[in-house]
Amino acid sequence: MEFELSVKKMTLREQISFLTGKDFWHTASVDRLAVPSVMVSDGPTGLRKMKGLGTITAICFPSAAAVASAWDKEGTRAFGEVLGNECRAERLSVLLGPGICIKRSPLCGRNFEYYSEDPFLAGTLAANYINGVQSKGVGTSIKHFACNSTEDFRYKADSIVDERALREIYLRGFEIAVKQAQPWTIMMAYNKVNGKYCTENSHLMEDILRGEWGFEGLTVSDWMATADRVRALKAGLDLEMPGTGYYTISKVAKAYRDGEVSQEEIETSARRVLHLVDKSTSGSLGEAAVWDKKADHAYAIELAKKCPVLLKNDNDLLPFKKTDKVAIIGARAKNPLVQGGGSAHINAYRIESPYTAFENLGMDLSYAPGYDLKMLDEVNQGLISEAKAVAEKADKVLLFVSCSDMDVQEGFDHTTMDLPKAMNAVVEAVASVNKNVAVILSTGSSVVLPWADKVGAILQTYLLGEGFGAALPALVLGEVSPSGKLAETYPKALRDVPCLADFKVDHNCNLKFRDSIFVGYRYYDTAGKEVAYPFGYGLSYTKFDYSDLKVAKTDDGNVAVSFNIKNVGGMKADEIAQVYVGACFASKVYRAKKELKEFARVSLEPGETKTVELCLDPTAFEYFSADLDKWVTEAGTYKVMVGASSRDIRLSADIDIESADDLSKEGNYADFAPHYFKANIAEVSDTEFYNVLGYDLDEYLPDSSDLRLTQADAIADATASKPGKAVNNFLDMLGSIPFVPEIYKKLVVDFVKTMPINRMVKVSKGILSDNMGDGIITLLNGGTVVDMVKLMALGVPDTAKAILIPFIQKKAVAKPKKKKGI
Ligand code: BGC
Repeated sequence: MEFELSVKKMTLREQISFLTGKDFWHTASVDRLAVPSVMVSDGPTGLRKMKGLGTITAICFPSAAAVASAWDKEGTRAFGEVLGNECRAERLSVLLGPGICIKRSPLCGRNFEYYSEDPFLAGTLAANYINGVQSKGVGTSIKHFACNSTEDFRYKADSIVDERALREIYLRGFEIAVKQAQPWTIMMAYNKVNGKYCTENSHLMEDILRGEWGFEGLTVSDWMATADRVRALKAGLDLEMPGTGYYTISKVAKAYRDGEVSQEEIETSARRVLHLVDKSTSGSLGEAAVWDKKADHAYAIELAKKCPVLLKNDNDLLPFKKTDKVAIIGARAKNPLVQGGGSAHINAYRIESPYTAFENLGMDLSYAPGYDLKMLDEVNQGLISEAKAVAEKADKVLLFVSCSDMDVQEGFDHTTMDLPKAMNAVVEAVASVNKNVAVILSTGSSVVLPWADKVGAILQTYLLGEGFGAALPALVLGEVSPSGKLAETYPKALRDVPCLADFKVDHNCNLKFRDSIFVGYRYYDTAGKEVAYPFGYGLSYTKFDYSDLKVAKTDDGNVAVSFNIKNVGGMKADEIAQVYVGACFASKVYRAKKELKEFARVSLEPGETKTVELCLDPTAFEYFSADLDKWVTEAGTYKVMVGASSRDIRLSADIDIESADDLSKEGNYADFAPHYFKANIAEVSDTEFYNVLGYDLDEYLPDSSDLRLTQADAIADATASKPGKAVNNFLDMLGSIPFVPEIYKKLVVDFVKTMPINRMVKVSKGILSDNMGDGIITLLNGGTVVDMVKLMALGVPDTAKAILIPFIQKKAVAKPKKKKGI
């Protein structure tokens, strides 16, 4: 409360300074009032706190895709507590996570950082993670709000999504997390939603987040996601990150002088930043904690054991016996893929290879690399022959395959669901000489496994963090049963993905969410499409029986669901039971056949039975009516289904639900959106999509006769002019320098090419002034170097101001004289 009061004592300039960060990772400070700046850091599956040019050594926990496969509410909360404690020890105020964008396509480059294709699962896990972290007096930043389900063109992509899909699919997880956990901050995504940047989207920030959900925290931009700070402030964005210093301060001050923003608007956002500072520094929670890295490493190993999903296990090939003669094949056994790249990358504390872990058990092992990690697109026959020879002589094979490093990177999407050629080739080859092949698969999202029928077992580990190696023997040798279940569907082929045709931006940078609510199993199950592995699926070393389903209304308006699960196999294991709901009647609106509404992870000894008791609140029976602009319930009979996966429903019961909602004004979707009723997304025309969207997107398209670029565009957009082509060619040439690792080239070159010019201006803190930005655009639009230089020269005074004013102000603060406003 202390600092919150300070907002009134601040000059307007000081208040404005709080609307942008102090630097890349800190909020602003006011020494005069003893208001400190606080530090935020990535996240989300470990600490990526910057130190010098690198990052601190930290525990690399399983990635979000792996954590979600554990479907473990309490476990995710406990994980959050461990992270919160680490943050306290490092004096971090906010951990930038969790990421819960919906996995709309397996091609999204950041799927490894996200939880699920299902908003209930994603939101519930996020709420637990947040409650865990925040119980330690450290904030979180749930991200990326909203519809950031693709990485390519992320600074410019406009997600065109109908209101119902927005609410039911893309926002629902955020809603659950906000209502159940009140994250201290929420991170506004790079992209636009329905024509407006998320950072400038008052429908998202004010109407929904604050207005409807009662969000009490602070909105922060994703790093460099603010295009126009003044518009963003007016739309409800509190904090811009990273800090842009004088550039933003002078723009907001000018907007204030021009009467464009009010003192109240400035003060409101500044107060929210101060409130964050207050929360993270007040009381005993502001004190540092002890970080026992050894203990947290051990915790990472235990967490890693809970996540893997057993996709296949013919004739109980797994678990292996310790006495088996095992061939370990695959360079990934010695060099495991345990995490993805980008802002989530952790400087891991201790990575033990799976090979070493098995070796330490004194097993009879042989080894062959099978492929060259540096040349995954080529099949190396020599390595394949060697792998076959080694596999032939062994009783059983443990074969490590993964996606490539490039497939688990922030900033760009993939183009295929296939594993690298060399990986597929080694599996085919080894499976042809040994019938007992168990594949250990590590990817960031769902993939296509063309050899699945030829191997005996497949264990999907996702990116399991630094505990991968040490955790694996327990699973492979049966000390622990795999218990994870898929948080995403594995389609049979990429062509089956409903949003495939609309996953890339069109020539207007629009991403049409034509698939509406039909994402993941909602699509596959409703369309009756065969899949490779369904949502919620995962095998175990034991078996479970489900019985005694009871579904009944309670006095407080909820529906109580209870059922028994019995472990009928021979070993202790966890079962993840899922509760789905589907309407039994012909609805006025299109609906998914079933939707996940609850789940539980239950631990059972052999022969043990437990009763699972869950509660469905009224939201389980609602849908969002775009026409009525609210959540509504259709009266009728609903099926409550209890399953071991979305395609393995073990028990079901009907329940009648009443409703006071008047749906007479609901649109007749069967008339104007017929294909949606069978989830026939491939047949949905633009017109049908626009009917659902509520407007004709074509009418909103920019004047296509004016092809000139603006500062909102990037170098990569400048392909029409000669100078633009030359600049792009030059950057591509830099990107083709031999010996520089592919990944660095892609990251650096892509970063420069795709960053909109106005963000470059901002991140330079105005040293590259607006005029200079115009100069660059003039050249990219086909202007001459002279035109560019002229404009750039005009920007020199602003550049001088951007350098000198902060310098003078710093000096003035060091020696306080008379207080000045702006
Ligand atoms: C990412 C965020 C991350 C931020 C800070 C952005 O590029 O999208 O997820 O938290 O950088 O590193």
